[in-house]
Amino acid sequence: MATQKRQKKAKSRKYIFVVGGVMSGVGKGVATSSIATILKARGLRVTAMKIDPYVNVDAGTMNPTEHGEVFVLQGGLETDQDMGNYERFLNTDIPDLNYMTTGSVYQSVIRKERNLEYGGRNVQVVPDIPLEAIRRIKKAAEHADADVTLIEIGGTVGEYENILFIEAVRMMRSEYPGDIAVVMVSYLPVPGSIGEMKTKPTQHAARTLNTTGVTADFILARAPVALDKKRKEKIALFCNVQPENVISAPDVESVYDVPVNFEKHKLSERLCKKLGLPCKKAGDLVAWKNFVRRSKKGAGTVKIAMVGKYFNSGEFVLSDVYLSVIEALKYSAYMLGLSPEIHYVSSVDFENGTKQLSELKDYDGVLIPGGFGTTGIAGKLKVIGYVRKQRIPYFGICYGMQLAVLEYATNVARLKDASTAEINPAARHLVIDVMPDQKEKIAQNDMGGTMRLGEYPATLKRGSIAARAYKAEKISERHRHRYEVNNEYRERLEEKGLVFSGTSPNGKLVEIMELPQEVHPFFVGVQFHPEFHARPLDPHPLFTAFVKAAYEKK
Ligand code: GLN
Repeated sequence: MATQKRQKKAKSRKYIFVVGGVMSGVGKGVATSSIATILKARGLRVTAMKIDPYVNVDAGTMNPTEHGEVFVLQGGLETDQDMGNYERFLNTDIPDLNYMTTGSVYQSVIRKERNLEYGGRNVQVVPDIPLEAIRRIKKAAEHADADVTLIEIGGTVGEYENILFIEAVRMMRSEYPGDIAVVMVSYLPVPGSIGEMKTKPTQHAARTLNTTGVTADFILARAPVALDKKRKEKIALFCNVQPENVISAPDVESVYDVPVNFEKHKLSERLCKKLGLPCKKAGDLVAWKNFVRRSKKGAGTVKIAMVGKYFNSGEFVLSDVYLSVIEALKYSAYMLGLSPEIHYVSSVDFENGTKQLSELKDYDGVLIPGGFGTTGIAGKLKVIGYVRKQRIPYFGICYGMQLAVLEYATNVARLKDASTAEINPAARHLVIDVMPDQKEKIAQNDMGGTMRLGEYPATLKRGSIAARAYKAEKISERHRHRYEVNNEYRERLEEKGLVFSGTSPNGKLVEIMELPQEVHPFFVGVQFHPEFHARPLDPHPLFTAFVKAAYEKK
């Protein structure tokens, strides 16, 4: 009986694939997150997955300037920033199961082959690679017990890279014709020279998709402006889509407007209709709309400098690299009724004299996010020393915490020749050292997915800034690091006034450092990444404490 029931349930699961047409970077991840949000608002159980077409097994080994932020899931998988969008929009943790790359799929198939799991047959690119992707999609849907599973396929149609995943869509659709919907997020340019919106690239994209045996049921028309009736009809006619399923998706002020905009076009109702889902009354987006409203009118502004090194890409500034940190700052500011003004400052500018430290006085608070390697470190250390002495609120995340400890060791505890093993392993005082279990991995060059990753608990010191912010003494946060505060120096630094206000439950690993509030209004560093837990409807308490301190200092 129980199995029968489960089988019945398994049959009713629905899948929405989101593919890109014309070009990348037009907001497929936000579109996927927004569709998930409006379906969830209808009372459906929803989960979202991402397929990245690159050969890397995960996103952890890629330079952020190339790939954007690496988002770490609860389970420790290093993934794409879209996974962060799904978690933020859905206000939920998503398991490792929901992310795959070409590399990880091949790795599973090859492992199975080596284990004789294919029973001696010829293992082929098609169908075996798409079948492994399908196996994972179904597993993720079952794990979430989802009514609807959204699967975003990275890249755009017509590329070599994602063709095997589009083949997976075709195979799933032929198996479950009534349970699959395909959404193509397209782009409609308005060339300046003619000032008219052009549908031709979208027509080509739809045709390219058709050659794979997959047709789009919905086209989301991303464009600088709204789609008019004439072009909507044209797209419908030439791309085999019902006119009501061509959805206008113009540029909006903020990504959080997108779910609301989709609902203006009744997208969730149309999707439910297509998938044969019981279409209850329009969803409840009240909390979401309140958040959006708050985000648009702050009673005051708070000006934060993010000091990092991954900002420059040719002539362009890349803020994508710190996406979760930026969003976390916004959520806390909105909750406090403030408009955040976030400025990106390259730490290297303080090394070559492009910027003076005194310019930091223009900001209400300074944040140094995570990072790796030696570039820009001297500049970051200068910045930390300055904001410590000037009592400008400081929030250090991961490397930003390790460097704050190093600055304190050098300039307050006066340890000559102090460093972190990441920069100078031969230094006399390694106040930040490599974690013992990392030594072997580094020696063997075993670097992919081997940091201390994912969620770990920490215990907080009663009465500390951290404990007061969290209103708790036991917390759990996500990590991504190889180095840690060297315990041999803890006592000496504490004697000089630094407070280690959070540690692993056994006390062996420093998780949070701070200065007492009598000494500095807010000088806090955390070894973990609180930004991965910050959500629009549930801001992170430490970010809130930092933004509040910054505003009050002002
Ligand atoms: N590079 C440092 C480490 O590996 C900090 C990492 C980070 O900021 N995510 O420990």
